[in-house]
Amino acid sequence: MSVWDALVGQPGAVASLRRAVAGGSHAMTHAWLFTGPPGSGRSVAARAFAAALQCAEGGCGICQSCTTALAGTHPDVTVVRTEQLSIGVDEVRDLVRRAAMSPTLGRWQALIIEDADRVTERGADALLKAIEEPAPRTVWMLCAPTADDVVVTIRSRARQVGLVTPSVAAVAQLLESEGVTPDRAAFAAAVSQGHIGRARALATRPEVAELRREILEIPGQLGGLGDCLRLADWAVTTARESAEAVTAPLDESERQKLSLALGVGAGRGAPRGAAGQLKELEEQQALRAKRFVRDRLDSVLLELTGYYRDVLVVQTGAGAALMNSDCDEAIRRSAASSSPEATLRRLDAIVDCRQALMANVAPQLAFEALMVSLA
Ligand SMILES: [Zn+2]
Repeated sequence: MSVWDALVGQPGAVASLRRAVAGGSHAMTHAWLFTGPPGSGRSVAARAFAAALQCAEGGCGICQSCTTALAGTHPDVTVVRTEQLSIGVDEVRDLVRRAAMSPTLGRWQALIIEDADRVTERGADALLKAIEEPAPRTVWMLCAPTADDVVVTIRSRARQVGLVTPSVAAVAQLLESEGVTPDRAAFAAAVSQGHIGRARALATRPEVAELRREILEIPGQLGGLGDCLRLADWAVTTARESAEAVTAPLDESERQKLSLALGVGAGRGAPRGAAGQLKELEEQQALRAKRFVRDRLDSVLLELTGYYRDVLVVQTGAGAALMNSDCDEAIRRSAASSSPEATLRRLDAIVDCRQALMANVAPQLAFEALMVSLA
């Protein structure tokens, strides 16, 4: 057993991190940048690395240092998590202060920023200074989808660890090790296209599996314009509701925290400037809500892409295994009733829809256009 067990399908990254740990403090780089596609395990890699650095055995996975570092409770491992709106200059300054302190228990002061791409411009300036002149026992671990998502001045000072999309077999094996039955693990891994979080959710949460089934039923239901509009509405409403289930409680607790800090509602009316700060919070929350909805809509597009990819496999007789093997019948029906050219046009329409969402087209409009193109 070791801390690297949780890092699935990443032999290259694990080898270079192990080397860094074994090299000792002289060979240590003070800033690391973990990049990789969503679901590949960027923050898992950073935590494993932090644990290995704190562990006397280089990452045994069972000692107090390892287990607390992995769980996020080690006093010398600070993790700035994903659900943040943006990571502003005040927060970065807090981190920089912490980075300057000697480790209390461990061997290193490790600071993990899970979404370094969300650090504001001023935050990045503060961070850069800390990275340029690091305290001797400090290690910064930044995570971002790609190196381009991090400002170049920081990027150029960090050593990059690139994660790849893990193989289906590796993801299935991970799920099995977590207690999922082999059949279920293999299925969830295959349909999740290397996204570990999605595969785990699919294998363990019935409502996620149910939603996937409903999405894959869309192609079979597309008839007239009425169907298209109804299904577009369903997709967008479902995405909004599922995003809201996550963001609404966050919004409320952030609002309460800020109100308390500002002294709003203490009986003497709101202090000067409070309204502005509350308004700013609401604007940031609205942006986050939008991002969550877009993520959910993106998974709808991903499922549909998988479906039409399977249709194309049948139509071209390519012989590859179907990704959505449980929808075999519907896929074959779709394949028989259209041509490969039509399927390629549908796949293009999905790409167009994703681009429209990125360009801030209203989701409802983008999805209505998509459904009409798919019909
Ligand atoms: Zn250990």
